[in-house]
Order: sequence, then C-alpha cells, then structure tokens
Amino acid sequence: MVRPLIAGNWKMNGLGRDLAEARAVAASLAETPAESRVAICPPATLLARMAEALSGSSVLLGGQDCHAEPSGAFTGDISAEMLADAGARLVIVGHSERRAGHGETDAMVAAKAAAAVRAGLQPIVCVGESRAQRDAGQTLEVIRRQVAGSIPPGMAEGGFALAYEPIWAIGAGATPTPDEIAAGAAALRQSLIDCAGAAGRTAPILYGGSVKPDNAAQILKLPEIGGALVGGASLKAADFLAIIRAQA
Ligand code: PEP
Repeated sequence: MVRPLIAGNWKMNGLGRDLAEARAVAASLAETPAESRVAICPPATLLARMAEALSGSSVLLGGQDCHAEPSGAFTGDISAEMLADAGARLVIVGHSERRAGHGETDAMVAAKAAAAVRAGLQPIVCVGESRAQRDAGQTLEVIRRQVAGSIPPGMAEGGFALAYEPIWAIGAGATPTPDEIAAGAAALRQSLIDCAGAAGRTAPILYGGSVKPDNAAQILKLPEIGGALVGGASLKAADFLAIIRAQA
C-alpha cells in the first residue's frame, strides 16, 4: 500500500523564527512516528535553514514551484536541480496561485513536473476548478482536462502525487462536501490511469483547500484520498500535527 502524504505549503509566509514550528513537528514525529509521509514546503528564503532544521528527522523538505529549465537566465526563478541541491525531495507544481497569478498553463505545469522528475524530486501536481466552473457544473470536466495536460508522459510508479485543490476552497474556510471530494477523486483516479497507466493507479491523490484539524479525519478517510496539501493550517505545529495525526 502507498503511504499517504501530508504536505504543508507555507506559501509566502515564514521568517527564521518560524523554523521553531517545523522543529516542533519534527520532534513530535520523532517521538511518535506518523502513518503518513510528512513534508513542509517553505518559501525559498528558508530552504537552506529548513533543511538544517529538519536534518535527521522524518519530515521531508519540499519546494513550492520550480522552473522547467535546469539553469539559465531566469531572474527570480529556481530550478528543480537547485531545490534538490538544497535538500528538497518534493516540489509543488501548478498550484492555482501560480496558474492564476503567473499565467501558468497545463503545458508549463507538465514541463515543470518533468523537470522535477529529472532532478530526482517527486512533483505534487495541483489541479482544481474555480467557483464559476463549479457553479456551471464543469468540475469533473475541468479537472480531467487539467490532469491530461499537466501530467507529463512517462511518469514512473511512486514518482509523483496529485493534489485536488478546488480553487474556491483554498484559504476560504469552506470545503466541498465529502461526496463531492470523493467524486472528484474518483474522476481524477481514472484520468491518472488513462494518462499514466500503472503509475496513475498508485499515485497518491491529496485533497487541498481549507483542511483543518476539525475536518481532516473526515476528508482523509474518503476513498481515493491519499493525504492532504495544507496551507494555512501548516504554519502552526499544533494544527499541522493534529492534521497529521488525523490520518488513520
Ligand atoms: C493551499 O494553498 O494549497 C491550500 C490548500 O491552502 P489552505 O489550506 O490555506 O486552504
């Protein structure tokens, strides 16, 4: 059975003093190991210090984005190779905040995911519908199309994860109903199998969008859900640990 993954996305949050939260997560997991793999994706400025803070612990380091090229004249960008060099094991690609705020298309996301694999990182590829698409009844069509366009060919088993993040649920304090999450995850599983074969059968499907200590257990036990991508609630060790411990 594939171990679930609980990944914390710190987004553009976190200063040196906040490393104490990551250290607290690592210390708790050292005492009582988690059922799932656990990762923290800090902003780039904290990667090196986070790698040091998590050194020797079970908590994996992740990036929040990567460029599709290994190096070059791309001011402000970071390559997958650089993330790996900094100690990262995973990288989020195609987060809706990158798709919306930086014009990232499915093709760009697929190129980033391929770059991550080339650098030895596990990409967490994000997909999710907008509020308008949901209201128009287009959720499943949209997320199927995103998977088909965002997962590069030739993915190996164990090589990647998918995050289903309804855009309207991110940072909103609202989530789809359990039935809606399960329906989305079932559609995504089929799309993953269609585009990645055996690798798509076993890739963990994380749910993301306002996962909190009080809804985590219900979400994490849904069929086809293999973990969570957690934004706001990953910033405080107590909340993040409560979500990690909710994984039965
Ligand atoms: C996210 O940004 O990936 C996310 C899920 O955020 P939040 O948990 O804050 O909704």
